Amino acid sequence: MPGDRLKEYRRKRDFRRTPEPGKRGKRRGKGPFFVIQEHDARQRHFDFRLQVGDALKSWAVPKGPSTDPREKRLAVQVEDHPLDYADFEGVIPEGEYGAGSVIVWDHGPYRNENRDRDGKQISLEQALRRGRIELWLDGQKLQGGYALVRTRMGGKKKNWLLIKMKDEKADARRSPVSSQPKSVLSDRTVKQVARDARRQTDGEDSGED
Ligand code: MN
Repeated sequence: MPGDRLKEYRRKRDFRRTPEPGKRGKRRGKGPFFVIQEHDARQRHFDFRLQVGDALKSWAVPKGPSTDPREKRLAVQVEDHPLDYADFEGVIPEGEYGAGSVIVWDHGPYRNENRDRDGKQISLEQALRRGRIELWLDGQKLQGGYALVRTRMGGKKKNWLLIKMKDEKADARRSPVSSQPKSVLSDRTVKQVARDARRQTDGEDSGED
């Protein structure tokens, strides 16, 4: 029997305090999906998640994804997250793991583009073990081919690079991380989510924008 993939996820969180989902969740739709969440934690980053089976494989990308193939973005692999996390937006309270606000910055289906040397398709699990994943994303902000490549930077197996592949969707002039900051679910920025949550608890406007 495979181990509980969400053990580390649960160990880090107190579900009496955080609004994050605690259960495994159900998969929806037919094909596999990806989600990118902006997370305004102590260090702001973007969490890139891929649905693989019944969990979300996850990487924290400090600078967020690029649409420019010359930009290699560090992506640090973190613990698997439950499928229900894909819709999570809200505020993780002060003192809890990952404290800060979260929005769903982009999401959509992805296609497995992983092939072995003979050109035969391999599973995402195999590609993960190999340390090179190739995907075609059909998001609202990100489209086209992306690769995640494991590096040995700093001698750590957790460090990968997220790279836009050269294709018709590559565009060095775009910078969606800064030009398209709003949630694809609620049309709010991560700061607005934090402010809305404060209003709910304080019952007053903090006045900032
Ligand atoms: Mn995060």
